[in-house]
Amino acid sequence: MQTIDKFNFAGKRAFVRVDFNVPLNENFEITDDNRIRAALPTLKKILADGGSVIIASHMGRPKKNPDLKYSLKSILAHVSELLGVDVKFAPDCANEEAAKMAAALKPGEALLLENLRFYEEEEGKPRLPETATDEEKAAAKKATKESQKKFTATLASYADCYVNDAFGTAHRAHASTALIAKYFDENNKMFGYLMEKEVIAVQKVMTDTAHPFTAIMGGSKVSSKIEIIENLLTKVDNLIIAGGMTYTFTKALGGKIGSSLCEDDKLDLALELLEKAKANNVKMILAVDAKIADSFSNDANTKFVPVDEIPDGWLGLDNGPETEKIFANVIKASKTILWNGPTGVFEFDNFSHGSRAVGEAIAEATKNGAFSLVGGGDSVACVNKFGLADKVSYVSTGGGALLEAIEGRVLPGIEAIRGY
Ligand code: AMP
Repeated sequence: MQTIDKFNFAGKRAFVRVDFNVPLNENFEITDDNRIRAALPTLKKILADGGSVIIASHMGRPKKNPDLKYSLKSILAHVSELLGVDVKFAPDCANEEAAKMAAALKPGEALLLENLRFYEEEEGKPRLPETATDEEKAAAKKATKESQKKFTATLASYADCYVNDAFGTAHRAHASTALIAKYFDENNKMFGYLMEKEVIAVQKVMTDTAHPFTAIMGGSKVSSKIEIIENLLTKVDNLIIAGGMTYTFTKALGGKIGSSLCEDDKLDLALELLEKAKANNVKMILAVDAKIADSFSNDANTKFVPVDEIPDGWLGLDNGPETEKIFANVIKASKTILWNGPTGVFEFDNFSHGSRAVGEAIAEATKNGAFSLVGGGDSVACVNKFGLADKVSYVSTGGGALLEAIEGRVLPGIEAIRGY
C-alpha cells in the first residue's frame, strides 16, 4: 500500500480530501479551527516535496448549488494563513474553470475548491421536494447515480494522485471520499497523515489488540450503542457499562432506580447482553453505587447510595466512590483501552467526578504502557474538559466514523484505499 511518507509529490498535483467542516459564527468567522490544523501536516508535506494541492472539503448541509452560507470562501484567508501560501479559490468545484485552475497549479501552489456538497452528486442523494412521488424518487436516484459518475471523474481529472485525510467522512461512500479512489492506481492513492493515525489507532484497538482489553461505554442510551456493545463482546476482556445506560441494566436486574434514565423497552436486551458476555467470557462491569440528585441540575441536593436502591424522585447522575475504585482498578490493569461516552453528566461540575476519575485512570494506564483510544461524541469534550487529551494515546477526530469502525463495519473511505 502506498503511504504519504514514501510518496514523492515533486511535480505532481494531489487531490486532497480534507474535513474542513469547521463551525462558523453569524459573521462567518471560524470559531474552532482544529479540523483545518489537523490536515496541515499532509498539505505541508505535499507542498514541501514540490507538489501542488487541490484541497476539497464539504461544509454543513447545503440544500442547493450554491448555498453561500456554506461557502468555503469564508475559510480561505485562514487556510492561506495556516498553510503559509496564498491559496487560490475555485468558486465551483466541478466546472471548466476549476479544471483550468487545477491544471495551472505550479509546484508549491494550492487551490481550494468550493464546497463539494453544493453538488448533490457528492453524496449521490437527489434533492427532491417532499411532495415527490415514489416513481419520481426512483428516477431521480438513478439519474443522480449516473451524474455522480461524471462528477467523480471530473474531480479525479484534476490530479495525478489522491490523498484522503478526512476520517470524519470515512464512513460515507461519497464521490470524493471513496468513489474517486477508483480513478487512481494503488501507487497513486493513499491516506493523509491524520487518516493514517486514525486507521492505526482503530487497528491497535480492534485487531492488533494487546490484552487485557477494556472498553468503557458511557453516554446516555443503550439503544444508540447496541451494535457497538455486541461487537465489543467478541473482542474485549472487560466491558464497563456506565453513564445513563447503567440504570437500564440495574432495573433489568431487579434494582430500584428511582427517576434515573431508563429505556424500558430495552430491559430484555440488557439481560441478553449480560448473558452474551457470560458466554463469551467477558467481564461485564456495572456500577455498584451512584451519586444521586433530587433534580436534573448542577445545584440539586445529592447523596451516595447503592446503585439499586435509588429512592423515588431521585436520579443517578454520576458514579459513587466504590464504583470509581472498581472502574479505575480494571482500567489500570489493562493493556488496551477504548473509551466512548462520559460515565455521568459531566457537563455539570458536581456530576463530573466519575468521568474525570475514568479519564485519570486511563491516563495512568497509558503512562504505564497501555494503548488508549478515546472517541465518539462527548468523550472528546470530556477529555478536553479535564485536560487529559495529551495523556491518552489517541483522541479520535471522527465521531460517526469511529463509532462505525468499532461496530466492526468496513468504512468505504478506508476500503477504497486499503482494499479492505
Ligand atoms: P452519548 O451521546 O450517548 O454519548 O451521551 C452523552 C450524554 O450522556 C452526555 O450529555 C451526558 O451528560 C449524558 N449522561 C451521562 N450519564 C448520564 C446519566 N446518568 N443520566 C443522564 N444523562 C447522562
